[in-house]
Amino acid sequence: MTKKVQFITQGCSANQADSEVMAGLLQQDGYEVCDDAPLVVFNTCTVKGPTETSFESKLAELKAQGKQVIIAGCIPQSDKKHRALKGHNLIGTYEIDRIGEMAKQTQAGEELVLLGRKNRTRLELPKMRRDNAIEVVPISHGCLSSCTFCKTKHARGELYSYQPQEIVRHISTAVSNGAQEIWLTSQDNSAYGLDIGSNLAALLEEIVSIPKDFIVRVGMANPDHFKHFFSDFLRVMHHDKIFKFVHIPVQAGSDAVLADMKREYSADLFREQVAALRAELPQITIGTDIICGFPTESEDDFLQTLELVRDTRPDVINISRYWPRQGTPAAKLKQIPGSEIKDRTRRLTALFQQISEENNRNWIGWEGEVCFRERGKNNTLVGKNFAYKQVIIDDAGRVPGDRVRVRVVDAGTFDLRAIPLTQDQQSETIGAVA
Ligand code: SF4
Repeated sequence: MTKKVQFITQGCSANQADSEVMAGLLQQDGYEVCDDAPLVVFNTCTVKGPTETSFESKLAELKAQGKQVIIAGCIPQSDKKHRALKGHNLIGTYEIDRIGEMAKQTQAGEELVLLGRKNRTRLELPKMRRDNAIEVVPISHGCLSSCTFCKTKHARGELYSYQPQEIVRHISTAVSNGAQEIWLTSQDNSAYGLDIGSNLAALLEEIVSIPKDFIVRVGMANPDHFKHFFSDFLRVMHHDKIFKFVHIPVQAGSDAVLADMKREYSADLFREQVAALRAELPQITIGTDIICGFPTESEDDFLQTLELVRDTRPDVINISRYWPRQGTPAAKLKQIPGSEIKDRTRRLTALFQQISEENNRNWIGWEGEVCFRERGKNNTLVGKNFAYKQVIIDDAGRVPGDRVRVRVVDAGTFDLRAIPLTQDQQSETIGAVA
C-alpha cells in the first residue's frame, strides 16, 4: 500500500484550514503529501453552482486516471445523496480528525462514510501549512444566521465557538513554529463567541497581547452581529498587530432584498459601519461581497446596490452572480433570466473597478515597509502593506520573505506599484517623519 496522498481543496480559508489539518494527520500516520498520488482527498465547496460543476468534472478526470478519491468537505456534509458521491467514501466537515482511519479503509477497498455532526475544536490537531509563514486559524464552526441563498449552512450548521484560551495557545505555538501572519477564519467572524459569552473584539484583545511578533488578518464578518461590540472592535483595530483590513459581506443595497435573503441588517447599518471605520482608521481597506440577481431583486433594487457602492466606495468587492442552490429557500423562487443577471454583474463590475482604481490612486506617495511573500509575474515580488493592500515591486534579486521599505509610485485597479527606497531616501523620510 503506497502511503502517498494528494489534496485538492476548493473554497474558503476555513476549508483550507481543514485540509491542512487532514494533511497534518496523514503525515503523522506516515503518508507523504504530494502533488500527484494514487490516493486523493478532494475537499469540496458547495457555495456556488460553478464550484460544484468543477468538482464533478475534476472527479471524473481523477477516476479516469484510476485514482482512489475520498470526498471531503461541504458537498458530502450538506447533501450526502448528491449524484456524484455514489460509490465514494465520504468524510464531512465535523469528522476531519478521522482522516487516518478513512485513508486506511479506502486503500483497503472498504466502504466508510463519516458525516457525523459532533461539535469539537480542532486546534490541537497537527497541521501541514500550505505556506509556513501563514497560519489559518478557525475560531468557530457554523453560524447564527439562515440566509435563504446559502447552502454552506447545511454543511457547517449552528455556531460553535472555540474557547479563547485554546485559540491564543494555538496562535502562540504557531508563531513559535514560524508563522508570521495569522488568518482568523470561520463562516462568520462577527458571530464569534456570542454562544460562549465572548465576542470578536474581546478575542482580538487577547490575541494581540501574545508577546510575539506577528500580524492578524480578521476574516469575513457579517454586519448584524458587529453592532453588539462595534466600538470595542474599532478600538482594538488600532493595534499594530492587526492588518487595517475588514471584510464585511453586505450582499445587497436594497433592504427589501436583504429581508428576502434573511440578512438581519439594513443597508444603512453597513453605511454607518463603513463610515465609522473610515473615521477611526482613514487608510483602512474595506472589503465586501455582493450577490447580483437574487430572485426577488428588481431593477430598482439593483440600482440601490449601485448607490450603496457609490456611497461606501469599497476597496474590494467579491461580486457573485446568484446561483440557485438545491435545498435552499431561494432556489424555490422564480429565478431572474441569466442574461439579466449577467448584465447586472457587468454593470456592478464596471462601477467597482472605477472606484477601486480611484481609491488606489490615493496611495501614490505612500512610504512604508512591506513584507513581500510571493513571486509575481515579470520578475516582480508581491506583498501586502499594513492595510492589506497588494503592493508590487521589481524583484531586483530580492526573494519572497524580504521586508522592503518602499514608496508607491503608481496604482492600478487591483494593486499598487512601488519602488524600493535607497538607504539615503529611507533616512530622509524617517528623518522627515521623526
Ligand atoms: S452567515 Fe449566512 S451566508 Fe454565511 S454561512 Fe451562515 S447562513 Fe451561510
